[in-house]
Amino acid sequence: MILLKINRCALSDLIEKNRVMWYNIGNLNSKGNFMFTYTKKIPNDLSCDVLVVGGGPAGLCAAIAAARGGADTLLIESNGFCGGMATAGLVAPFMTCYDSGGNRRLIRGLFEEIVDRMVAVGDAIDPSTVPTSSAFTSYITVGHIHVTPFRAEGLKRLSDEMLGEAGVRILYHTSFVDAEVVGDRIDRVIVLCRDGLYAVTAGAVIDCTGNGDAAVAAGVPFTLGNGEGRIQPATMFFRIGNVDSARIDADIEANRNNFYRKDGVNYRSLHWWVSKAREAGDWTLDRVSIGIFRGVDEDEWSVNTSRIMGVDATDTESLTKGEIVGRQQVKEIFDFLKKYVPGCEDARLLESGSTLGIRETRHIHGVKTLTVDDLLECKVPEDSVMLAANSVDVHGRFGPKSNEYIALPEGRCYGIPYGCMVTPGLSNLLVAGRCVSAESEAAGAIRVMPPCMGMGEAAGTAAAMGFADDLRSLDTDLLRDTLRKNRVELDME
Ligand SMILES: Cc1cc2nc3c(=O)[nH]c(=O)nc-3n(C[C@H](O)[C@H](O)[C@H](O)COP(=O)(O)OP(=O)(O)OC[C@H]3O[C@@H](n4cnc5c(N)ncnc54)[C@H](O)[C@@H]3O)c2cc1C
Repeated sequence: MILLKINRCALSDLIEKNRVMWYNIGNLNSKGNFMFTYTKKIPNDLSCDVLVVGGGPAGLCAAIAAARGGADTLLIESNGFCGGMATAGLVAPFMTCYDSGGNRRLIRGLFEEIVDRMVAVGDAIDPSTVPTSSAFTSYITVGHIHVTPFRAEGLKRLSDEMLGEAGVRILYHTSFVDAEVVGDRIDRVIVLCRDGLYAVTAGAVIDCTGNGDAAVAAGVPFTLGNGEGRIQPATMFFRIGNVDSARIDADIEANRNNFYRKDGVNYRSLHWWVSKAREAGDWTLDRVSIGIFRGVDEDEWSVNTSRIMGVDATDTESLTKGEIVGRQQVKEIFDFLKKYVPGCEDARLLESGSTLGIRETRHIHGVKTLTVDDLLECKVPEDSVMLAANSVDVHGRFGPKSNEYIALPEGRCYGIPYGCMVTPGLSNLLVAGRCVSAESEAAGAIRVMPPCMGMGEAAGTAAAMGFADDLRSLDTDLLRDTLRKNRVELDME
């Protein structure tokens, strides 16, 4: 009853301020809230050939590729900058772009161009020079060969530059709200800018929201997490500075034999200090070790250790609770580092992510679905738009302490097919990045940033080629030839 009063109050306010034309109150949604419908006149003066929704690693590359391909491209992004998890979430480093033996650089194209430009100005370290099992890989051995440490601030600036050079129109502080579908096409997209709602007409839409917001609003079916109630846990990343890195290295070297090893994977660094802290009552978290990655600057590290179970980032209440718990965990971990870990005594907490790190939400159902067997059997389908060798990395499946890491056989890779980015029901929608059509475990491999950037580049290239036609029947041989010309690796050696 109280809820109804609040809603009615808000509703009359809405009618007063926004000239709502018509409404009705009826039905309850799944959370028991009253639903109502209203219509409103909004401007429809935004149009483009290709609309990219979300400017994370996938969306950034999708927008640049679409514009370079000749399409009039509009990118909308909720934040005031691009990069998604790489900037807002402080996730680092870029995971490996090499084959599983660390010999062949597989993910090139736009990803490599971005990395090279960051390296040139000192905002990243060339991955070919970054050793495995080092401070840069949190001392992990397998699957972390030649990662790319980078500065988030540099990526923000470079994204603006590259989008500008390509001629992409950018609207920051603009969120996707809804999609209107006519027949098999998304006819209009409703977006919320700072000055209100607008309708956008676009030849093609590329959903790079990580959550599949645009696809789902357009009626595309999806699976949340593994479809059986399990979603990979969230993590609040944070960065620390003023660390005596040589002393952390020395402590790790002194404890090399204490590392937990499973299937040849060497991880769980600093667990010897976590146990001590737990015994002393200074550690209450369900974690047994510390993920800590050295950054570009000698005294700065990214800490990937907090773990928040059961967060559904497509549910605002759940996400909000996760953010709050995440920051509490950051405090406990930082206090632990200062008190126990040699080299961290004078460390400073520089910042936590401005958004919680989200590993998994929705996997949209595409024409094809990438399976974990496809990856582990190293399949390269004919319509592959990129090659990758990132390991299957599933956190928390058997409770908060569990981590599963399945690496590919040495020197191998798999292909990510175009079919995972198109949906059976819509002719002008592509999906790229974390939410592409993949089983939960397969997504646990391709969700890392280099493959997301590769998928984004492929989607942008495809959209530029086919925004006026049916993207489901795009000539994938032609797409692959175009990608090859742009230095995307598609051929097995
Ligand atoms: C804890 C954690 C650790 C990780 N570790 C690594 C690692 O070490 N190395 C690595 O390479 N990868 C790592 N990853 C994976 C990687 O960061 C993400 O999976 C990757 O960033 C996904 O890219 P994306 O572009 O699909 O989505 P995101 O990075 O999530 O970007 C989506 C973008 O869309 C925007 N957006 C969302 N909804 C809307 C909307 N409705 N309207 C407008 N804009 C919207 C967001 O603001 C965001 O900018 C990690 C992830 C997490 C969470």
